[in-house]
Amino acid sequence: MFAKLAGTHCTLISTAAGLSRAARSFISNFLILLVFLVAAAVTSAAVAAPSVTGMRVGQHPDKTRIVFDLTQAVEFQIILLPDPYRLVIDLPEIDWKLSEEMPAGKSGQQVQSLRYGLFQPGVSRVVMDMARPFAVQEAFLLPPGETPHHRLVIDVAPSSPDQFMAASRASMAARRSLAPATPQAPPPIPFAETPRRADGKRVVAIDPGHGGVDPGAIGVSGIYEKEITLAMAKQLKQILERSGKYHVLLTRERDIFVRLRERFAIARREGAELFISLHADSIKNKGLRGLSVYSLSETASDAEAEALAQKENKADLIGGIDLSTESPEVTNILINLAQRETMNDSARFAAMLLKELDPVAPLLRRSHRFAGFAVLKAPDVPSVLVELGFLSNAVDERNLRDARYREKLARGIAGGIDAFFAFKDSVSRS
Ligand SMILES: [Zn+2]
Repeated sequence: MFAKLAGTHCTLISTAAGLSRAARSFISNFLILLVFLVAAAVTSAAVAAPSVTGMRVGQHPDKTRIVFDLTQAVEFQIILLPDPYRLVIDLPEIDWKLSEEMPAGKSGQQVQSLRYGLFQPGVSRVVMDMARPFAVQEAFLLPPGETPHHRLVIDVAPSSPDQFMAASRASMAARRSLAPATPQAPPPIPFAETPRRADGKRVVAIDPGHGGVDPGAIGVSGIYEKEITLAMAKQLKQILERSGKYHVLLTRERDIFVRLRERFAIARREGAELFISLHADSIKNKGLRGLSVYSLSETASDAEAEALAQKENKADLIGGIDLSTESPEVTNILINLAQRETMNDSARFAAMLLKELDPVAPLLRRSHRFAGFAVLKAPDVPSVLVELGFLSNAVDERNLRDARYREKLARGIAGGIDAFFAFKDSVSRS
């Protein structure tokens, strides 16, 4: 029993390099305790997903204590990420039962901001942005006793940048997946013409921006961008499929985090001929409203477009992804060539979309812009990013929360898709 369960013990990967003897013995005691707790959880056949019912951050003179209230003992894993300093806590898929808003840290406090959500199937993630380099002093589970629930307690204390980097590397090296075994990801598809489907339907990929641990922008009423984009994507899929002309795939079907590059990998795997990423922006100027469409280019058409691209490109960072090991964007010459042709198609499609959307939605001045969005770098699939409106504007936000307004937008987008494929068909016939 013990041996069998030993594989399921928690990984504490934080300060392996700089642990005191007391801390080390603490951790081994803690692991034994944890194995016991996991065993208890398994044998009680608790089938319900664990819930987090409370979360607190306490600032003490010498440390910051982070506490999660849990309905059952869980495995957890701690990862430290630099640029910016982040504390990442992976848990099994959690049913979040938190009523309070995400607490925002005051200046000077260690925890500056915090977000949580589904990271991948079976794994929930909490990401905390930290003000300074830090070390995890202790991380342990407490069974019910003093309080009616289980608690996960994490103490962090300030450290030096060098110590932080060493601990971060150790945490990355020891990282393992908490996800249930998943089939191997299929190999990437070489760049080639995708054969048309036997039923003659065009394949369209709709990408609801953000999701899971990455909420995106926050609206004036408190709604998250990730909720608007998913609702919009589902409506658009329904309209397109009802026409009988399209097979539509969504890059996410629920509130889950999907990496930027995985989004267009999904589209390519399924043979998508068009990729539409849906977003809703938020800015300081609350008076600004309107829809805009972006297509990819090396150089942004203006500073605002560039700033927006930078904001959207941060999604992986926000989701708690270590970007230091990422290979740079592929820049092989064939891909560049394919991309140039695709960029023309993308720009054409953006113009067609705006023509259809003009009668149904307020458009931003200079509504078609160009910028380097990571999510649009699918070299062989014409791709656009639609900013549906501004969640910082009360009117836009109210509209976007309204299913009837989204229906109008979806019909406009569907019209643009029809126009694009009609054009492609006319070109291939001539
Ligand atoms: Zn967005």
